[in-house]
Amino acid sequence: MILIIEDEADLVKNLEYNLQNEGYETRAALTGQAALDILGEGIIPDLVILDRMLPDLSGIELCRHIRNEAATCKVPVLMLTARGEEMDRITGLEAGADDYVVKPFSVRELKLRIRAILRRSDDDGDLEFGNPVKFGPLTIDIPGHHLLIGEEPAGLTALEFRLFKILFLRRGQVQSRKDLLRDVWDIEAEVVTRTVDTHVKRLRKKLGDCDHYIETVRGVGYRFASRP
Ligand code: CA
Repeated sequence: MILIIEDEADLVKNLEYNLQNEGYETRAALTGQAALDILGEGIIPDLVILDRMLPDLSGIELCRHIRNEAATCKVPVLMLTARGEEMDRITGLEAGADDYVVKPFSVRELKLRIRAILRRSDDDGDLEFGNPVKFGPLTIDIPGHHLLIGEEPAGLTALEFRLFKILFLRRGQVQSRKDLLRDVWDIEAEVVTRTVDTHVKRLRKKLGDCDHYIETVRGVGYRFASRP
């Protein structure tokens, strides 16, 4: 889920429309307080788009808050700033923003930045997951390469675990077959083969009652559910 924190309602609408079209789930907060409320629900976004100038809190303060909370300290933040001056960029990056975009920006540029940040954070995430993560009945131990369903090991092969891991770390985001071939199999393919579908089918079978966590997005690819 991408959390959009921005007080310009038209811009929020535009971003939500465009990001949802890309297959991302979104939530919007029009004030800093609304953003804190969402984060207080224990919902951890995959990425935060954060306007620097909000009516109540400054984007900088909010960014520091996100960085200081254990639950959200790793969440990537893309800051939107109306002013492109050097000092503003520096204070944003110093507060812990991963990147910034100066308004007015094209939605296309923003989408490219989001993709780049998410890809980077997935790679970092692999290393950061020191402890097993719970997701519904699943227990995921990334460094240990273990997946438990309840108390039972799912018995994934190394490749199946890799596929599971990439889908899981990018939950809520559609992965095309091409993306998966590249990131799971290291194959840059123009022609999409049945490989991905075959392995997803096997993986779903091993997930048993949790097979619905891997959703098929028609004409696009697969998406891991963003919440259990
Ligand atoms: Ca604003």
